[in-house]
Amino acid sequence: MQPTLKSKEGHDLKKAAGPRDLSNYREIFEDIEKELRVELAKEERNFLSSVPADGSATRNHMADSNAPNYAAETRAALIKENLRHIAAAKKRLKNGTFGICVDPECGARIEDARLFKNPFVDKCYPCQQEDDKEAARQRKLNQCRGTLPGKH
Ligand SMILES: [Zn+2]
Repeated sequence: MQPTLKSKEGHDLKKAAGPRDLSNYREIFEDIEKELRVELAKEERNFLSSVPADGSATRNHMADSNAPNYAAETRAALIKENLRHIAAAKKRLKNGTFGICVDPECGARIEDARLFKNPFVDKCYPCQQEDDKEAARQRKLNQCRGTLPGKH
């Protein structure tokens, strides 16, 4: 879920003046949360219904039911992760840190366009870029380690 923001680094920070109206976000979060909970209940029903109640499934049945089972479980996990994002965002709304970069060395106001596009972001664009760079560096490092001679 990479945000694709076209504005330049720190673009919106300069015009960050006065408090912004965050009441919309509260509603947005409530709506998304409601939807997600419905989805989650659905997935959990799928997940449970694919597990035989008496546990007497044959091997074949197990193999048949494991695929949808796994998919429902994966989707449920994803939904739960999104619910956690919402809970965190709601908490930030409540304590007044919503829309502020969580990087302890930054604390800048997150760009409006960026926040509007993804209300779950908790870092400003420059900080997110730093993070992404670091993540990419780690991936590269891991790849290099993976191809070291003598590992086969
Ligand atoms: Zn920042």
